Amino acid sequence: MSNNKYSKKLYQFYCEICNFKKITDGRGEQDLVEIKKSPIPGGVPRLDSETGKTIVPKSIKRPRMFRCPKCGRGMSVRKISSTAPARMEEEPESIIDQQEQVLKRIIDRLDDVYGEDNPS
Ligand SMILES: [Zn+2]
Repeated sequence: MSNNKYSKKLYQFYCEICNFKKITDGRGEQDLVEIKKSPIPGGVPRLDSETGKTIVPKSIKRPRMFRCPKCGRGMSVRKISSTAPARMEEEPESIIDQQEQVLKRIIDRLDDVYGEDNPS
């Protein structure tokens, strides 16, 4: 990771468990422990009967998670703009929220199956 010029992007860390919130331009990231998550498999590879080729479903990329310094649970991070948005975001917030809800549900299920990540 380069540590000279930071972009104008800010990152907001937010823990939904204890409401811990931290906004950083990236410099504070070293203080936070990232929780490594492997991508979610998109499904079992299957054979296409027409082409005879194996179709491997794309894996779902998981959002980066960091360990909350207050309660130790995983917290999400999102990029925010450091300046007031001059133009509309590409996606309405409600759609992003919906997607986050769906992802959260998937991740919660996976955590139930695979258990919590073990630090150190
Ligand atoms: Zn927390």
